[in-house]
Formats: sequence, structure tokens, C-alpha cells
Amino acid sequence: MTEAWRPDDDERRGAIGPVRVRVPAKVNLHLGVGPLRRDGYHELNTIYHAISIYDELTARRGDTLALTMEGEGTGELALDDTNLVIRAAHALAGYAGVLPHARLHLRKQIPLAGGLAGGSADAAAALVACDALWGTGLSRDELAGIAADLGSDVPFLIYGGTALGTGRGEAISPVLARPTSWHWVVAIADGGLSTPTAYRELDRLRDSGAAGAPLGSTDALLGALRQRDPRVLARTIGNDLQDAALAMRPALADTLKAGEAAGALTGIVSGSGPTCVFLAANAADAERIAAELTAAGVCREARVAHGPVAGARVG
Ligand code: ATP
Repeated sequence: MTEAWRPDDDERRGAIGPVRVRVPAKVNLHLGVGPLRRDGYHELNTIYHAISIYDELTARRGDTLALTMEGEGTGELALDDTNLVIRAAHALAGYAGVLPHARLHLRKQIPLAGGLAGGSADAAAALVACDALWGTGLSRDELAGIAADLGSDVPFLIYGGTALGTGRGEAISPVLARPTSWHWVVAIADGGLSTPTAYRELDRLRDSGAAGAPLGSTDALLGALRQRDPRVLARTIGNDLQDAALAMRPALADTLKAGEAAGALTGIVSGSGPTCVFLAANAADAERIAAELTAAGVCREARVAHGPVAGARVG
């Protein structure tokens, strides 16, 4: 008589898993927000950039689909089908025609609703982890196709690096850039901001004539990314959603001012905020600016990061 198969047997033999996937946060070096489309999304022209703040998802064999979580903001997240990790696992299983069985554990370091696409990152991590665990062997482009239905930022986090996003942000093309590492300071605020609310606030500001001029083309930024000078890059970074985030959270203006006073080359609100990101001239400056921001009490926490880094990867 043979013994019944147990979920951990494969792991013990070392055949399958656990699969550990690390996924980065994103910032938008250029977030150009165009008109509102009929489907309720805005037309975007954005340059995504993956930075070295990571969530980690571990996937193990299981006989149901189960999720556990620890870290940043997880107390506020449900473990059910509203969680993007669970939605991503179901989407991949449906596409590949396999049972969505896995034990998933998420360790979050990307702040919740911070404008760093943490939820989208977790969805990308789940696609990559489950693809490896289930042996479905999809290409990155196929995973990005599934990702697009889960959220506009999810395809970018499958690829990482620096990339152009068009459509509602889901259509990704890589950007030709010199292999340079840029140094960032990430100022994390208390509490989050809702992305849909920030877009609605921008529409309201634009309707009332109170919004700044839209950013326009990405050409200057793309040119700067082909050079190695952070001062040139600093002049080309911008975010159309920043006015909306500042209207919703006026204290962010103090954070931006404090970063620039501490020597940052430039600072912007990341995506829909409330996280602010600052470009530093080098790694030592980034450390110093982070310490000064923390001491000034203008953010909950300041972390240094570099970019670009790879997207969701096993290992
Ligand atoms: P973006 O920059 O893409 O607009 P964000 O960084 O502002 O996003 P997220 O952390 O991605 O915000 O979270 C947005 C919302 O997504 C959360 O408020 C939460 O309701 C939902 N969500 C679902 N699953 C997750 C998850 N695993 N992690 C974070 N948020 C999740």
C-alpha cells in the first residue's frame, strides 16, 4: 500500500518550492494624466521606475488557496477575494486551467495606499510565484497580459526596470536608458490616499481651472535617462497628480520643501501620494537627506532606495 500524498512531500524532496518572489515598489518619474475615458480611466502617459523597496511572497503547495500576511498595513487588508494576491492566483489558475491551490505568505514593506503600487506589486508577485509553483511556465508577456486585468500598474511590476506606460498605464514598453543607478529618498506619510479619489480631485481642479498645466511629452525625461547626470534628470521629473495630492494633504508641501532644503535635487509626490520621493546626487546624500527628513518630523519614516531594479522575480 502506498502512503497518501501530503502537500509538503514535494517540498521535502526539494522537487517543488517553496517559491520565494521579491517584488519592488514603483515610482512614476513622469505621470502625465490625459482626458477621462469612457471606461472611467484616464489616458496616461507615464514613465514607471522600479525601486529597491520590496514585498516578498512565498508560495508553497497546499490543498486549498490560503493567504497569510505580515508587515506594513496588513492589519487593514482582508485575506479574501478582495486581496489582489488571491485575485491574481485565481486569474492565473483560470487562464492556465489548473486548480488554484497554494499556501501563500506575504511580507509587506511597501506602505499601503502610498502611491507606490504595493497592491499591484503583490498581484505581480502572486502571478510569478504561482506560475513557478504550478509549473505553468508562462512567458513574462503572457503574465503581463493576465496582469493588465488585475490593475493598470500590475504589468509594469512583472517587468520592472524603467518603462513607458500608455493606455491606462497597462501597455508597457521598455525605455532605452544608460545602466545607471539613481539614488532616491522615499518619505512615507502616516495613512494612505485613495487613488480614485486623487483622480477625481484632479478632474475637479481641472474643471475649476485651478490645476497646473499638464506635463505634456516625456521626451525631455527620456533624453535625461540616456545621460548619467542626476541634475539633468531632476529637471525633467513631474507628476500631474501632485496638485490633487497636495489639495487633499496640504502638509505634503512641507515634506517636499524639507527634502529640497536638505539637499535633494528634486522632490515629487509619488503617483497619487501621499509618499514623496526625492532624487539625491549620490548614495551618501540620500542617507543624509533621509536622516534630515526624519529629524524634521515631516514624514512617518524616510528610507533610501535605488533604481531601476528588476520586477517580480523568483529567488
Ligand atoms: P497605486 O500607486 O497603484 O495607485 P497605492 O500604492 O496608492 O496604489 P496600494 O498599496 O496598491 O495603493 O493599495 C491600494 C488598495 O488596494 C488598498 O487600499 C487595498 O484596498 C487594495 N489591496 C488589495 N490587495 C492588496 C494588497 N495585497 N496590498 C495592498 N493593497 C491591496
